[in-house]
Amino acid sequence: MPRINVGLIGQGYVATTLALGVERIKKGSIKPYGVPFADAEMEYRIEDIVFTSSLDVDESKIGKTLAEVAAQYYPDLDIPETLKEVVVERGVHLGSTRGLPINARGLEEGEASLEEAVERIVKLWEKTKPDVLVHLITTEKTGKLSSWKELEEKIKHGDVKSLSASQVYFYAAMLYAETVKPVAFINAIPATLARDPVVVEAASARKSLILGDDGASGATPLTSDLLEHLAERNRHVLGVVQFNIGGNMDFYALLDPNRNVAKEETKSSIVKDILGYDAPHFIKPTGYLEPLGDKKFVSMLIEYISFNGAKDELIVNARINDSPALAGLLVDVIRLAKSALDRGYKGTIYEINAFFMKSPGPAGSKSISRIVAYQVLVDWMLRNKIIPRPPRYSVHDFIPCKP
Ligand code: NAD
Repeated sequence: MPRINVGLIGQGYVATTLALGVERIKKGSIKPYGVPFADAEMEYRIEDIVFTSSLDVDESKIGKTLAEVAAQYYPDLDIPETLKEVVVERGVHLGSTRGLPINARGLEEGEASLEEAVERIVKLWEKTKPDVLVHLITTEKTGKLSSWKELEEKIKHGDVKSLSASQVYFYAAMLYAETVKPVAFINAIPATLARDPVVVEAASARKSLILGDDGASGATPLTSDLLEHLAERNRHVLGVVQFNIGGNMDFYALLDPNRNVAKEETKSSIVKDILGYDAPHFIKPTGYLEPLGDKKFVSMLIEYISFNGAKDELIVNARINDSPALAGLLVDVIRLAKSALDRGYKGTIYEINAFFMKSPGPAGSKSISRIVAYQVLVDWMLRNKIIPRPPRYSVHDFIPCKP
């Protein structure tokens, strides 16, 4: 039986929703709505996904099974027994939860040097053999690396002040790839990894993949599609306002200006990339209100000039469950990542990133609307024989694909 071993990094709302949703699909208790290619006969089925490890730094999660963590987030749902098979282990911290109401401790804080902490993570993965790692820790801002050597030296010397947790996890993944097998690291958070040439080169040298950055799940892809709609009709956009207010821990974390800037960067790139000019815009997570929980409130206003100078406005208001929106997409990123590894792809893959990520790597890549990105991705999947035929509503229904 084919299988994809998946290691989770950051057992928060999204990672828990992902594991829970996949196991409920396997049990037949839910339909795979929200998984874009669920009906596309991909070579790996959703049932092939097996979660084999989990890392976190929150003391209230470490040592608990995924079933216990899932019950904290979803007390009213039936939790599949299979989630009892994985226990949350301690990861590295590097101050990533600073300022949050989380009692966090990483391996490097008291128990081991940073280098030893990395070795322990690699050992866990040697035992649990991930093909794909899904990076879902608290939003953090990460600069680009100047060289791989520099990262190696900093880890050796335990330079925790100048390193981010994202960089250290990626480094551990590359050590694992050297000793065990190539791995795909999916960076679903706004840290700069797939847009960092040093990171992409490191993955490539180990026949591995880095996909990212920052999962595109909610209002930003919808805004990008609306902008594409206007651009294709040569309607001139005067300005874009888009904000989100939510009540989960991720929104709480985004109250920190540094983290908010990281999100703003990955969200805002769409305007100029899609329109070709930089219309004034305000696109960022704007607030935390606890009673909203995971179901965020999104509001959007786009003003534009139409034919004969007419001024129009699009106004969209929505309530969107934040974590399931990303978790459903990740089901397909995991399956595509494994298919790509099997075919010898290395470094990063723009076709995957462009559809699933807010800021697609590699560095310098454009954000394109999801309507266009979907067709680019379907074309790539067909060329690589990951799907046997175009899914419904694909452009390939009308234009034959040349393999
Ligand atoms: P969350 O706060 O519920 O979960 C984050 C988890 O990571 C927590 O359990 C926390 O303890 C853990 N963590 C923090 N630092 C860690 C470290 N150094 N090592 C291991 N674990 C660590 O957040 P979430 O809603 O699950 O979102 C996770 C990430 O996904 C965020 O970075 C967010 O920006 C990104 N993201 C989310 C969405 C979405 O929810 N729709 C969309 C795009 C991107």
